[in-house]
Amino acid sequence: MNRGLTVAEALGNARRVGVDRLDAQLLLARVLAQPRSWLIAHDDAIVDGAQLARWRAWLTRRAAGEPLAYLLGEKEFHGLTLEVGPAVLVPRPDTEVLVEWALELLAGPLPAAVPDVVDLGTGSGAIALAVKHGHAAARLTATDASAAALEIARRNGARLGLAVEWQHGSWWEPLAGRRFDLALSNPPYIAGADPHLAALRHEPTLALTPGGNGLAALAAIIAGAPAHLAPGGWLLVEHGYDQAAAVRGLYADAGFVDVTTRHDLGGQPRCTGGRGVL
Ligand code: GLN
Repeated sequence: MNRGLTVAEALGNARRVGVDRLDAQLLLARVLAQPRSWLIAHDDAIVDGAQLARWRAWLTRRAAGEPLAYLLGEKEFHGLTLEVGPAVLVPRPDTEVLVEWALELLAGPLPAAVPDVVDLGTGSGAIALAVKHGHAAARLTATDASAAALEIARRNGARLGLAVEWQHGSWWEPLAGRRFDLALSNPPYIAGADPHLAALRHEPTLALTPGGNGLAALAAIIAGAPAHLAPGGWLLVEHGYDQAAAVRGLYADAGFVDVTTRHDLGGQPRCTGGRGVL
């Protein structure tokens, strides 16, 4: 017989299985269909029946390393609430650096009145949707090799009322003959043998690592860019903290100029961009 638990007891259980307090509060608030602030004033409220079953299942999954965002089914990114699930990488705050850089270019240096922007490997649609939200005049296209990811991206665009042309395929492959003023990508860049992959095992491997030294997807995107950029168009990519020099080398090989690297919120070199000349 389930007698139910108080909110305080439920949060105590979370602590005992090693679930972070903020995560536990967010999950319990969702189970009880209340805002997190409500929990603080309702230590004695009862969690029982279906709520208790759901709470226990979520605690077990969170304790086993499933991302909070998958349990809640959503993640905040650059002010937008995005649906996420195991078919897509959970958008990271570090990627907001790439979005900010893109919006700066759209606000000034890029001359086109209706700039054509593409996001390669869009996943949940995070980058494409944040750029469309921040610069409504831009025309957005986004690609992904995963049909399941594109379904989520498409739903995010529809729910947020942000128009993006979604294309199924790998990197530039569905964009034959098309040119863009600005190309963006957060591709898989973790090396195949990187021990961090173990902690990320619930997220799609396709979105995290291309195998080998982690540079294959970046190399394909950068090498393919000159054929898909308008004259003076820009390419911005996210990369690993130790890949900036290698990525700048790939840009140089592809004939880019004004190649620079920006740092993420943790102070690591995280995004590199450059301008195509032709
Ligand atoms: N930044 C992510 C991480 O290290 C990886 C994202 C990616 O490979 N594009 O957790």
